[in-house]
Amino acid sequence: MNAEVVSIGTELLLGEIVDTNSAHIARSLRDIGLNLFYLTTVGDNQMRIAEVLDAALNRSDVIITTGGLGPTVDDMTRQAVAAVTNRPLVFSQELFDQIVERFRRLGSTMSPNNRQQAFIPEGAIPIENPVGTAPCFIVETERGVVISLPGVPREMKYLLDTVVLPYLRAHFELSSIIKARVLRTAGIGESQVDQAIIDLMTLANPTVGLAAHIGQTDIRITAKAEDEATADRMIAEIEERIRERVGDFIYGTDKDQIEHALVAELERNSTRLAASEIGLEDRLAARLTAVPGSEHVLAGTENHASLEELCRETGSDAGLPLEELAVIAAQNLRERLQAGIGIALVGRDDGTAVAVAAPGHAESRLYRADPQEAHPVVWASTWGMALAWRWLTKQG
Ligand code: ATP
Repeated sequence: MNAEVVSIGTELLLGEIVDTNSAHIARSLRDIGLNLFYLTTVGDNQMRIAEVLDAALNRSDVIITTGGLGPTVDDMTRQAVAAVTNRPLVFSQELFDQIVERFRRLGSTMSPNNRQQAFIPEGAIPIENPVGTAPCFIVETERGVVISLPGVPREMKYLLDTVVLPYLRAHFELSSIIKARVLRTAGIGESQVDQAIIDLMTLANPTVGLAAHIGQTDIRITAKAEDEATADRMIAEIEERIRERVGDFIYGTDKDQIEHALVAELERNSTRLAASEIGLEDRLAARLTAVPGSEHVLAGTENHASLEELCRETGSDAGLPLEELAVIAAQNLRERLQAGIGIALVGRDDGTAVAVAAPGHAESRLYRADPQEAHPVVWASTWGMALAWRWLTKQG
């Protein structure tokens, strides 16, 4: 069963408001096992809305529209749905009475054009809207079902949950569910993850996909099954195969964050961490100190504007490669603060380097980008934590 969502409103096209409704509807459809292949946004223009709906009816079984049901002239959804389904708009006394009653309850004055809202395509199933004024409707046709919901997010969500999803489940006898699990990796590039699991990424069910963020890559496993237990089993099988290949880099699942994983590893190892950021804003310190309990495992954090002080203190040549200077910074701070492990992030005009140092261990990475951009700062803090986390997981 294929569904699609059409969000209607010129302010969406102009970027004046963000289309959160489509994202919400998309997630809800996924949860009840409907496939979603298209999301379309169209302005308040009856002809173009009708064109979009016509194309949607050619390829999908269910079309959910949001927006454009208000009483004003630029609210075109009901006219467009009527046109594309070849039904006249007919007045519904029942809907009109509901609108009148709602205005009476709210103590506000009804304007003549609110009467517009009591018109729905002939034969449509009316949906009462107890949380707003715009009534909604479902039109069942030979070509597919069109469901029109209001644009106001609170109203849309209420009607989706209480009326539309139960209707879809019953109407299409939906019994399958879709479940997803995200494996979160850090300290490995997206292309390396891709290479390692490329064969799994062509599977049909479960599907495996990658989403790269700055400095880390998510592996999403999505299974469609008759019930939750089966979906969980299907996901677990693929997860095991993925972990065999890149398990060393998977620090968590779903909403887990690398900073939490690192603090947990430090606690497990009873090790304290020292972090130094040179020539970069103190993103690493901010991320670490935001983790509850991190004060017990942080030996200290430092921030310096440039490498000068480090070179003077350690007698190092400022002309050394940045990765080497980062290692010196990590070692120096670790020893000075008597920490078990040190992380240093160093930004200079020629790039950004991260290093991790522990007794008998030093490791570093270089990223060639301007340290003043947001990207390297996030990259460096994530990679620094990832290198430290990985080293700790291998201890004892
Ligand atoms: P109503 O008659 O209750 O206003 P409506 O169906 O006419 O409902 P619109 O006029 O299209 O809804 O939108 C009302 C408001 O809802 C918009 O001004 C906007 O703030 C919000 N909205 C509309 N569409 C979306 C959307 N896709 N995502 C998020 N917010 C939206």
